[in-house]
Amino acid sequence: MAIQRTFSIIKPDATKRNLTGQIIAKFEEAGLRIVASKRIQLTLAQAQQFYGVHKERPFFDELCEFMISEPIVVQVLEGEDAIAKNREVMGATNPAEAAEGTIRKEFALSIGENSVHGSDAPETAAEEIAFFFSGLELVG
Ligand code: ADP
Ligand code: MG
Repeated sequence: MAIQRTFSIIKPDATKRNLTGQIIAKFEEAGLRIVASKRIQLTLAQAQQFYGVHKERPFFDELCEFMISEPIVVQVLEGEDAIAKNREVMGATNPAEAAEGTIRKEFALSIGENSVHGSDAPETAAEEIAFFFSGLELVG
């Protein structure tokens, strides 16, 4: 499997509880390298655009309000099979269904406040990285 890049967000519930370092440690232990990182606070319009794929879902407004409620940490993770590896270390969307040792099992508060986002495919990874990072911020 080739070296890939994926996009990650440490969500407001996790930044608020000062869990950024513990979550990054999980990525590094899984063999993922942080190749870009910044702490930002989204506007409502940015959150709605980022989660546009979910705009018809009943939880869309709640999700966008949550995502703007506190700063977030957006990152690019790199490694062997990074997209699938990151999804594995994140755990299932619903922390009640997440496997032992995953980020969501250890840290998530609920299905909505679930501590991390991770891209689900190569196309979305490329789009999401480009949404948050310029070429200058992506050191090879
Ligand atoms: P994932 O983040 O695991 O890829 P989805 O793409 O299905 O999950 O959903 C995006 C985000 O929307 C989730 O991470 C979670 O924060 C929120 N979400 C998903 N399902 C629900 C739900 N039933 N109720 C509230 N929020 C939800
Ligand atoms: Mg998703």
